[in-house]
Order: sequence, then structure tokens, then C-alpha cells
Amino acid sequence: MRTRIPGRNFLFVPGPSNVPDRVQRAMVVAMEDHRSSKFPELSTSVLKDLKKVFKTEKGQVFIFPSSGTGAWEAALTNTLSPGDKILSARFGQFSHLWIDMAQRLGFDVEVVDVEWGEGIPLDRFEQILKADKGHKIKGVLACQNETSTGVTSDIAGVRQALDAAKHPALLYVDTVSSMVSIDFRMDAWGVDLAVSGSQKGFMLPAGLSFLGVSQKALAAMPGATSKRCYFDLGDMIKSNATGYFPYTPALPMLYGLRESLNIIEEEGLENIFHRHTYLAEGVRAAVTEGWKLRLCAKAPKWNSDTVSAIVVPEGINAAHVIDVAFRRYNLALGAGLSKVAGKVFRIGHLGDLNELMLMGAIAGAEMAMLDVGIKVRSGSGVGAASDYWRAHDPIPKRKVSKEEQFYESHSTGSIQG
Ligand SMILES: *Cc1c(COP(=O)(O)O)cnc(C)c1O
Repeated sequence: MRTRIPGRNFLFVPGPSNVPDRVQRAMVVAMEDHRSSKFPELSTSVLKDLKKVFKTEKGQVFIFPSSGTGAWEAALTNTLSPGDKILSARFGQFSHLWIDMAQRLGFDVEVVDVEWGEGIPLDRFEQILKADKGHKIKGVLACQNETSTGVTSDIAGVRQALDAAKHPALLYVDTVSSMVSIDFRMDAWGVDLAVSGSQKGFMLPAGLSFLGVSQKALAAMPGATSKRCYFDLGDMIKSNATGYFPYTPALPMLYGLRESLNIIEEEGLENIFHRHTYLAEGVRAAVTEGWKLRLCAKAPKWNSDTVSAIVVPEGINAAHVIDVAFRRYNLALGAGLSKVAGKVFRIGHLGDLNELMLMGAIAGAEMAMLDVGIKVRSGSGVGAASDYWRAHDPIPKRKVSKEEQFYESHSTGSIQG
């Protein structure tokens, strides 16, 4: 095989995502005293702005120095007691891992197995919740975006299923690969525990996890007898109240988070969601119209706007595509995990991205597929994505009023000219 030539690595795994230069620079700081009188300025400002991102006014958001997995554990152990019953669906590696953790922590999980490529079965959830007359189920776990298969589930629908059954169980949502990329509304959807992490939509390195907690979940804490120490929210609440943490915070990460939140505010959350849909549509056009391949997601309603899992033809090992892409073209694609290992490769399209960056991933995946003998037409993926992006706007045009039209038509020339 030809050797790799110099130039940038193209990072297209679905996390860690690309870190913007502004965020990288913001993290190059001298260490400082995290018990100083100045420190709370930083901590209170990021904690406040995280609430906007989670779309919660009533809830509280916490930061842990861990990867997303830590906040999974914090969510469960702070609100449940050993033996408590949990309902969850398994349809990919991440929904599986959260269930596995819950079982290892001593909870009794009712698992609904679903074909990989589909998402949360709302009807089935509603039936199970309605049948649970004695309210034995204490929590419902929902993975909003299953990163291993590129499947997004309907979280508002899970809330409706709980409400239709008049069921009081807490709603736990994994938003690690959806937050700041796909719409999420903690208060409006009645989410009690929202788990997220720094290295995906937040455009930071791995190392921070975020946990949104509703008032109802906070009220469940005193009765929850699971053992917890490092992830105890009680300690966190006490320290956060004055702008501090119970242990040494990951200072450069907090400065990086401050800058990431600035960038999010500047672009606007809703615009960020639109951009992700628009970029994802271009990738999907490359896969289905250009390459004539299939997504792992079984129907358009499951399509994820942050990651596409692409099924390779029978007889081809997807790991081979990933290996050639990396070694020859310096392109990092996501591997197929567990059940879909060897069957899919993934393109992550979340975080700090635009059309031309994604063109690099599409072109590189196409070249690697050709190299391993997949008969896609050269240039077909790039062509289909180009056609899609040229014909669409990243942000849908909003209706402009007569008055705005007047001002827009009279405001050209002076500054631009
Ligand atoms: C990345 C990811 C996680 C957490 O992974 P960490 O490596 O612990 O940050 C959890 N759930 C989903 C859906 C993910 O994509």
C-alpha cells in the first residue's frame, strides 16, 4: 500500500469531534487556585449557560470531571436504590452499555430488545408502563441518539408514553451524542436526568460530563440508597452553591467550556440544529443516492443528524475500509461496534463542521471503499452531497415581513459598499 503523505488528519469519528481553534486556545491557561475568590465567576457562568443548552429553568445542571459514562452512573446512583426496577430498550452498543451498567449496579432492568437500526418502541413502552399498575418501575432509560447505529429516538414520545400511563417513573435520557446538535428540551419533555459529555456536540476534548437534574429527581435523592461518593450530588450541590466544586476541577476544560458556550451562543442553538440536519442530509444523499448504499437506520424517522452508520455490501469487511481510510488517506472513520462490527463504518457529522470538511470525509470514504473493492462510482458521493448542499440553505429561510423587506432593500450599500 502507498504510504501516507503529510497534511492534517481528518477526524470523522462520532466523538471526539473536532475542537475549534478558539476552544483550544482558551484551554492553554496557567493553573490557578480553584478556591480563590475569583474562581466562582467562571464556575457560575458556565453552570448558568449550561442550563440554557439543556433548556431547563427549573432543573439544575452539574459538571463532573469524567467522560459521559460517569454521568450515567451519577444519574442512576443518586436517584435509585439497589433492586429498583428500570425499563429500557436495547438497540445498539450505547443503549446496551447503560443497561449493563444499571445491572452491574444492582438494578432490575426490564430490557426490550429491538433490532439494531431502530429506536425506542414507544407503543411497547406505553403497554409496559400501563401494565405496571403498582408502579414498580422507578426509572425509564432512553438513549436519544444511539451512536453505534446512527439512530435517533423520540424523547417527547417517551414522555407521552409515561403520561398516557399516568406513570410516575423518572425519565433518564442519554444525550451524549445529541446535545448541542439535535434538539433536546429538558423541561418541555419532562426529562428528569439528562446525561451528556464534552467531546461531541460541545466541541471539547473528552473529560467533562454534564448532568441535568429535575426538581422531581432532586426530591428522589434522599430516598435513594445506592452507594455513591465521588458522584454524590449532595456534595456537589453544597459546593456549587457558593461557586466551588467538592474536589479539584478540571480547570483548562472549564475554560474550554466557557469558550464553547460562547460559540454556541453566537451561532444560536436552533441554527446549530438546522446546520446539523442540513449537513447530515448531504451525507445521506452521498450514501443512498451517490453510492447506492444503505444506512443502518431502518427508516428515515430513525435517521440521526450527528452520525451515519453505512452498511457495506456482503462479503466486504467494513473494518478494512476504515483501516485503508486511516492508513492511506489520514481519515478517521467510526468503526462498527459489537453486533454491527465489520458490517458498518460510521461518519460522524457533529460539532464544528461545514460542507467542505464533510466533503473530505465523503471523498476519503469513497476512495477507501474503491480501494477495498466496493463498486461505488468514483465521485458519486461527493456529487450527490454537492447537489444537495447547493440546493439547500443551512438555515431555513424565515418569512420576512413587509417592514423587514423595506429595511433590507434600503440597507445595502452603505457598509458593504
Ligand atoms: C459517547 C457516548 C457515551 C459516553 O461515552 P464516554 O466515552 O464515557 O464519554 C454515552 N452514550 C452515547 C450515546 C455516546 O455516544
